[in-house]
Amino acid sequence: AEEALRRSETIAAIGQLASGIAHEIRNPLAGIKWAMESLRSKYPDSLDQLNMIMDELDRIDSIVGELLTLAKPHEAQHGYVHIHDVLQGVITLMTGNARKNNVSIQFVVPDTLPRIHCDPHQLKQVFINLLKNAIEAMPDGGTVRIEGLDDPRARRIVVRLTDEGTGIPEHLLQRLGQPFISTKEKGTGLGLMVTKKIVQDHHGALTFRKNDPRGTIAEVELPYDWLHTAPSTVPLGE
Ligand code: ADP
Ligand code: MG
Repeated sequence: AEEALRRSETIAAIGQLASGIAHEIRNPLAGIKWAMESLRSKYPDSLDQLNMIMDELDRIDSIVGELLTLAKPHEAQHGYVHIHDVLQGVITLMTGNARKNNVSIQFVVPDTLPRIHCDPHQLKQVFINLLKNAIEAMPDGGTVRIEGLDDPRARRIVVRLTDEGTGIPEHLLQRLGQPFISTKEKGTGLGLMVTKKIVQDHHGALTFRKNDPRGTIAEVELPYDWLHTAPSTVPLGE
């Protein structure tokens, strides 16, 4: 318990630090963007490059914004939220990472899915962790497909991430979600533990199965409104 306390204290401290840094980045960024605006009218010949710089500055700005909301230590916040918006935020954060690894992201999430009762910050963490694993499973690049499906009969939505990576070793499937299980040199083996905990807190289910011909399909099922739904008992690995 003492160890857990110390850990949560550390995490809170890191969160504070990160949000401090994010603010420090945002201020000069605003100055740069303002100056860029005036350059645009002065140098019409370089408009293409200037627009590109502006686009990239906007990207930095939204990434820092996403970091700020993640880092901010917050009370559990529940509300009815569009999963589309949650996932869009995740993609904002992860596009750079994906690009660097030659991974393209296919986003097939209709914005017409019903809103679900959830803590959007925590759900964001779920999909960051899953997307990160998918990207890391494809060292030579590839495609990750993110789908959002509605299951009105069961009153739940399903978010499915399909990658074309190395696949999860058979012997690990049953143990996923236990701490410190990692096949990566620099892995923490904590990502899926956190992910599983958050999904369970939302009375949802997390499953993994093989993709054909290769890779992994991760599926997150989330009830529209878990206040009125019994917790799921679907096991993690299949
Ligand atoms: P970490 O990513 O730090 O290793 P995680 O808890 O996120 O820890 O994942 C645990 C392990 O599960 C990974 O080391 C990897 O072996 C396996 N894994 C998870 N997701 C995938 C995936 N999409 N493709 C292949 N292996 C995966
Ligand atoms: Mg991971």
